[in-house]
This record gives sequence, structure tokens and C-alpha cells, in this order.
Amino acid sequence: RSKAAGRNCFTIYDEAMSAELEARNMLEGDLRDAIARCQFELHYQPFVDVASGQRCGFEALVRWRHPTRGLIPPDQFIPLAEETGLIVALGEWVLRRACEDAASWPSDARVAVNLSPVQFKEAELFDVICAALGDSGLPPERLEIEITESVLLERGIENHAFMERLKSIGIELALDDFGTGYSSLSYLTAFPFDKIKIDKSFISNLSHRPHSSAIISSIVTLARGLDMSVTAEGVETSEQFERLKGLGVNFAQGYLLGRPQPIERIAPEPPVAGSRLDAA
Ligand code: C2E
Ligand code: MG
Ligand code: MG
Ligand code: MG
Repeated sequence: RSKAAGRNCFTIYDEAMSAELEARNMLEGDLRDAIARCQFELHYQPFVDVASGQRCGFEALVRWRHPTRGLIPPDQFIPLAEETGLIVALGEWVLRRACEDAASWPSDARVAVNLSPVQFKEAELFDVICAALGDSGLPPERLEIEITESVLLERGIENHAFMERLKSIGIELALDDFGTGYSSLSYLTAFPFDKIKIDKSFISNLSHRPHSSAIISSIVTLARGLDMSVTAEGVETSEQFERLKGLGVNFAQGYLLGRPQPIERIAPEPPVAGSRLDAA
């Protein structure tokens, strides 16, 4: 490869580009088929009340069961699904499946669903959510919608009104991946979130970067003042868990407390509200 690159790197560059384009087109075709054939799965990751150690809900995380390439994680196809608009159909499937699954749980555990900014632009989204709730029989109080701050950057006023509409029927709203991207504290006051999810990069830095503790504790203080709760994402060690407890974080999610798993693995040992940490 290096020999060829030395001879003519432009050729190599072009070839790499067209190979990438070809791979992308193939993936796009596969993705269309996958949506038509429902080749997706939801895996569920628990989140835990830090003070009591009890599981209170599960986040639905989509995976693509590709016929030849195996299980593909969302980071490898969500961006393409967004670019091509396929996310709208996929997102509707996710909402419906998550609501159906949660309605069948023998407890009142909540379910959290991630929504793409692209879905937020669809006028029908409210009806889609109501239909998913109505058809599954899941009470709206058990549904949490996770959005990232990119949703707030554009169409601020429309999105604000839409969020208020979701809240008016009892759905909770979480701000996902807080602290990454264009975070601004003004978003927290300007939009009606119930929950802030602190990005896992802050949690993994807890032990070796003292600043992370200070940042987390400021977020906790701010959230309290705004009547919001705080979730820590990506909790992997009990040391992190204890620190977060000390900092007053309300909920924790991460490999320590349970990895994302297919529904068969979280049921029939159900997400009982009183189930213990070590059962995760
Ligand atoms: P997210 O919503 O922030 O989800 C958390 C991600 O962190 C998940 O990755 C989860 O598996 C991973 N994670 C959880 N605990 C730990 C931990 O202790 N350590 C580490 N290193 N990672 C942990 P996943 O499942 O690959 O999902 C990645 C992203 O894809 C999600 O980030 C979300 O933004 C997006 N996504 C997933 N499902 C959907 C969906 O149905 N719709 C949309 N629009 N986006 C989705
Ligand atoms: Mg999320
Ligand atoms: Mg997140
Ligand atoms: Mg994320």
C-alpha cells in the first residue's frame, strides 16, 4: 500500500473515495431492505436510582441484525439513516417496539427512547408517538424521550412548543449527552427538560481529572435549581458509582449496572422496581 501511495497518492485517494462511496451505497441499499424486513432489534440498558440502587427503567438502543455482517451498532448506521431520511421509518419502528415491550413488563419500569433531530422536523411526530402509546397501552408517564442539544439549535421555538406538547400528556424529556458539542447552560433554562444525562466522557474522567468532579457537581446544583434530575452515563466502576452518589447524582447508567441486552434477557427476570443492583 505504501509503495503504491508513494507512486501516486491521488490515485489511491480517488480509489479510496470511490470504494467508500460504493460501500455507502451498498449500505444504503441494505438499510432500505432492512427497514422493509424489520431486521432491527432493541437492546435495553437499565438505569438505576443511585440512592436506593433500584432499577427504575431501561433505555432502548437499536441494533441492526445484518444478514451477513452480524449485529451492527447504531453509530454505524444512524448517521446514514439520518442523511437518507430512513430514520423516520426506523424511528417509528423503534418507538412502537419500545412501547410494546415496556407495556409487557410486569412492573412500572420506564422506557427511554432516543429521537433523532431529523424525526423532530416531522410534523407527524406527535401523532406517531401518541399512536405508539395508544396501540401499546403504555401510559405516557412511563415513556421518556431522549434528545440531544442539536435539536435545540435549530427551530428553537417550534421545538420548544413541541416539547411542551409532549410534556402536557405526561411524557418526560431528557437532554442526552450533556456536556458534548455545543452545550450551553441557556438551553437548560430555555427548554422544559425533566432530566439531564451527563455524557460518559465526564464519568470516565472522574478519577484522573479533578475538574470532572467540579463540573458534575455544578450540573447537579444547576439541575436542582431548575427542578430537573441528573443521570450519569457510562458508569463502569463502583468507585465512579460511589463518587457520583457523593456528588448527588440521581440516576446512573453504565456497564457496572447492566449492559444493553435483548429483551429476552431482561425478562422474565423482569425490571422489577425493587430488583437489586447485583441482579443486573
Ligand atoms: P446514547 O443514547 O448516549 O446511548 C448510550 C450509549 O453508551 C450506548 O451505545 C450504550 O451502549 C453505551 N454505553 C452504556 N453504558 C456504557 C458504559 O458503561 N461504557 C461505555 N463505554 N459505553 C456505554 P450504543 O447502543 O452503541 O448507542 C450509541 C448511540 O446511538 C446512542 O447514544 C444514541 O445516540 C444512538 N441511538 C441508539 N439507539 C437509537 C435509536 O433508536 N434512535 C436514535 N435516533 N438514535 C439511537
Ligand atoms: Mg440516549
Ligand atoms: Mg447519551
Ligand atoms: Mg450518545
